[in-house]
Amino acid sequence: MKKIQMVDLQSQYYKIKPDVDNAILSVMNSAMFINGPEVKSFQTELEHYLDSKHVIPCANGTDALQIALMALDLQEGDEVITADFTFAATVEVIELLKLKSVLVDVDYDTFTIDPDKIRAAITSKTRAIIPVHIFGQCANMEEIIKIAKDHNLHIIEDNAQAIGSEFTFSDGTVKKSGTMTKIGTTSFFPSKNLGCYGDGGAIFTDDDELAYKMRGIVNHGMYERYYHDEVGVNSRLDSVQAAVLRKKLPLLDTYNEARKKAADYYDEAFAGHSNILTPKRAQYSTHVFHQYTLRILNGQRNELQKFLTEKEIPAMIYYPVALRKQKAYFQESDDADFVNTDKLLEQVISLPMHTELDEEQLKYITEAVLEFMNK
Ligand SMILES: *Cc1c(COP(=O)(O)O)cnc(C)c1O
Repeated sequence: MKKIQMVDLQSQYYKIKPDVDNAILSVMNSAMFINGPEVKSFQTELEHYLDSKHVIPCANGTDALQIALMALDLQEGDEVITADFTFAATVEVIELLKLKSVLVDVDYDTFTIDPDKIRAAITSKTRAIIPVHIFGQCANMEEIIKIAKDHNLHIIEDNAQAIGSEFTFSDGTVKKSGTMTKIGTTSFFPSKNLGCYGDGGAIFTDDDELAYKMRGIVNHGMYERYYHDEVGVNSRLDSVQAAVLRKKLPLLDTYNEARKKAADYYDEAFAGHSNILTPKRAQYSTHVFHQYTLRILNGQRNELQKFLTEKEIPAMIYYPVALRKQKAYFQESDDADFVNTDKLLEQVISLPMHTELDEEQLKYITEAVLEFMNK
């Protein structure tokens, strides 16, 4: 059996190696390393895939969030609501810009931000909401968009983990994750569903003015060469990464399908087990399984992880600590408001999930989990 990895980027690369190697070599030969034609072409192709008017490539998914927030002209101390259960980048950029992060609880079954908790957290200083489409599934955007309309708030969709997933609104409209609101962001970190071979990210918007502004912000606030109209950053997707992404974008749906197939296998193996909850698939969203995350109900999650490690099966705890309890982002809070987050921190375990899992590996993994859980 092939060695089981959390994410197997090497096997994936070998399948497209000649194509990708040629693309990288042609960037080398062109010597157009920054803002070359590959970047522009990738931008256009991603706009087409997402059906988004503007894609602004940048250096990584964290920058994408920061640039999106910078473009909204918020004032120091303005409040931005996001989930307590997510990767730290989301809250990091809010604090970096001297805005105030307001962390709220998530839904127990979907792991995504709880719209009722957003409503309860709104004050006269609230300006924006950052829902995270965590683990590959969209947050409850229909509700969140309603809340934002009622209170005149911006929404930035953090789509770093769910590119390619789709949301179906109650009127039947279907939209790709990251394109449902004014701004969406993503990451092309290697292990993300659409990953390059280094760092990369992008911002999506249909708004011409915002797009113009963000294209300036990523480039030192320059709209005309050497004229700096505002304080910007230096955040670019480099040409080599764009060339890699141009080869991988046409495969994204196939890749997401392979992840879903692995998830189906896991689901079936664990269905009905009294101490294992499989990830819920929401009615309104397709799931692209950036992670496949179980909830272990018998209090033995850490022991299960250890057992799997001994069997050479990697398994990860995403996430072990709530953002509100992290040293850098510590907030006084009432634990009674974060019941779901706190339960999830104790229960979640993510199994290997990538495009290259084969049946032999899936069988070995599920049998090992069940062996431990049925002891
Ligand atoms: C990965 C990730 C980011 C940050 O992306 P980078 O490219 O690593 O900077 C932001 N938000 C979420 C939810 C992520 O998973």
